[in-house]
Formats: sequence, structure tokens, C-alpha cells
Amino acid sequence: MVTEKSVLDVHVHLAGSGILSEPHRDELVERVGEARLRKLCTRALDGETGCFASRDWWKVFPVLAGCTGAGTPAADDFFIAEMLKKEVAESCLVRQAVFLALDQVYDADGYARPDATALHVPNDWVAAVVAAGGGKLLFGASVHPGRPKASDELRRIAAHGAVLIKWVPSAQDIKPDAPRHRSFYETMAELELPLLSHVGEESALPCAYSGRPPLQDKGNPLQENNDPGRLRLALDCGVDVIAAPSASFCPAGEPGYMGVLQQMMTRAYPGKTSGGRLYCDLSAFVATPHARLGHLKRIVGQFPQDRLVFGSDYPASMSRLDFARTQGVNWEDGWAEVTGTRNALDRCAKTVVIHGFSDSVLTNGYDVIRPVNTIPFGQWSKRWMPNV
Ligand SMILES: [Zn+2]
Repeated sequence: MVTEKSVLDVHVHLAGSGILSEPHRDELVERVGEARLRKLCTRALDGETGCFASRDWWKVFPVLAGCTGAGTPAADDFFIAEMLKKEVAESCLVRQAVFLALDQVYDADGYARPDATALHVPNDWVAAVVAAGGGKLLFGASVHPGRPKASDELRRIAAHGAVLIKWVPSAQDIKPDAPRHRSFYETMAELELPLLSHVGEESALPCAYSGRPPLQDKGNPLQENNDPGRLRLALDCGVDVIAAPSASFCPAGEPGYMGVLQQMMTRAYPGKTSGGRLYCDLSAFVATPHARLGHLKRIVGQFPQDRLVFGSDYPASMSRLDFARTQGVNWEDGWAEVTGTRNALDRCAKTVVIHGFSDSVLTNGYDVIRPVNTIPFGQWSKRWMPNV
């Protein structure tokens, strides 16, 4: 049974445009402490966060985060972080949430390609936001395996308390099965860092190099980077993998990658013998469920429930209206319960349970993230950030 403040949300998207206004910078300094902030995100002290978002994409994000409503202050990056943090704090069910970074595109020669990147949320900024979160927030880092000294960056972010690594392979131009990534995966396994990787068609972020608005990259060859079969190399190297969002973003009637993922979930990678364990998250579950119902029913009925984890994908995918069009779900009292729930994360968690998933999926995330979360924040910061 789900109890209050027990849920782990492994999938919350922080984003930003790069700006940190003076009053918000001062507030951050006050909360984190200048010396500690200097270690976590030096740029924050200069009023920058290092975030970058392409113009087309940025038009979408503040709307999703509710930052452009009448009467709201200018949505600088700290303000957006606070909006997300408030939703976590006000949730009755969620104990902790993983805030996600997103590394930029690196080309085959190891050069950073901001010109090809739709969204970049640096590790340092997420670490600073999480440090100001009082233990409710966890650090979801992102490291492109093709960047110079990628394994060193893994060790650095692990020392700052990262609990997982996030990728969107089509948007970051990452080929997860490239043999040259083997040593990167071995370092991840050594550090017990799981990989939260998008699988299936990606529609929220454009592909690397595309320069197109979101939703217009169907058929782009880089979408093949999101084939879950490409994650076998990571698993074989001993990395636990969370496939998000279960490859279910695919119109009803189209097989997509669901079959490959189901086969991997049910016939391989339970982690009992060797290799990493494969999990799926339920992020974006509440987005267009009517279009994906066949896939969702398959996940409910045929995927091992002990390897499904909860992720809201907040602030994306929070439509309420789509619920009403979900056919074939026995809502009973659930409909009133869900629509009467104001907090977006609680609404999302309740929707998952109403669709027939076991309550345990809401807490399973604690079985797979790097286990810094179980240590109270005071001790945690001493253990993982002894010099801060
Ligand atoms: Zn997401």
C-alpha cells in the first residue's frame, strides 16, 4: 500500500535558458552557501547557469512548467527550479524526486556541438539546485560517452551524489551500442550508476543537428539510437538500465520497439546471474494514454511489475483531458479521485495505480538508483561531499 511521502519519482526534467537573475542568485547563495556553490556551479555566482535551449524548444518548456501564466515573475532558471521543487514539496505521495541534467551533443571527434543541441542542462547546475533542495531532490546527471574524459566526469558527478545518468540518445547523438563506449559502461558499473535512457520514438526533443521544432523529427535516422536493443552493451557490462518511457510512445497499431523491449524484460536481464538489470519507467504515462492504450495494457499485464519504476516526466505530459478519453480502463471512483487531485505528481502516481499497476512500482525506483538516497541528507553530504 502506498503511504504518504514514500514514492520515488525518477524522472523530473529541469531545464533553463541560462539566466540567473540577481535576487535569485543571492537566494541560492544563501541556501547553499558560497563555498559549496563555488564547488557545485561556479557559473551560478556570475548569474549564469550554463543551461541552453533552442528558441523553438524554449517556447514549449515554460508553458509546460506553468511559468508564463499572468502575474508570474520572469522565468529565470532558478524560478523554474523552484516551480518544480514546489510541486515535489507539496506532493502528498512523493518522498524524493530525481532532477535530470541533459548533456550537450558531442560529435564523433569529441567536440562539443552546442549548435546541434536543442537542450543542454549542465550537471553543475542540477547539482546546485539539488543541494538547495533539503534532501527532497536527487541528482540525475547526464554524461555524453563521447565527450573528452567522459569517465572522469562520471567520477566527478558521482562524488557530488549523482544517483543515475540520463540520456536521450536521438537528441544527444549517442549510439549506445558503439563498442568504444565499453570502458565508459565499465566505469558506470563500478560506480553503481544506473542509466536512465529514452527508448522508442522521441517527440519532445528534436534530434541532434535537426534544428526543427519538436514533433517534426519522425523518421529522422537518429531516432534509431533509441532502439532498446542497443542498450544490451550497457547491460552486458553490468550497468543497470531504466528504459524510459517503456517504448510506449508509439501510435496504437504500430509495433515500434515494444516487442524488443518486452523480450528483453521477460527473457533476459533480470540481473539474477550476470549483467545489469533492466527496468522500465512509466514516465509520460498520462500523456495521450488513449493513443497508446494497447501498449500500456501490455506493460500492465505482461511486464514484470518488480522491474517497473515510477517517473512522472514532470513538467511534461501532465494533460488532464486525455484521461477522459482513455477507453477500457475501469475508473470506478478513480476518475473523481484523479481529477480532484491538484498536485501534478500525485495525480500522475494515482493514475498509474488506477491503470492496474502494483503500488510497489511507485517505490521500486529505490531498488535501482545509486543508493545515496537512503542516507539522511546531513550524513549524505558528509559522505559524498566531504570537502564541500
Ligand atoms: Zn522525459
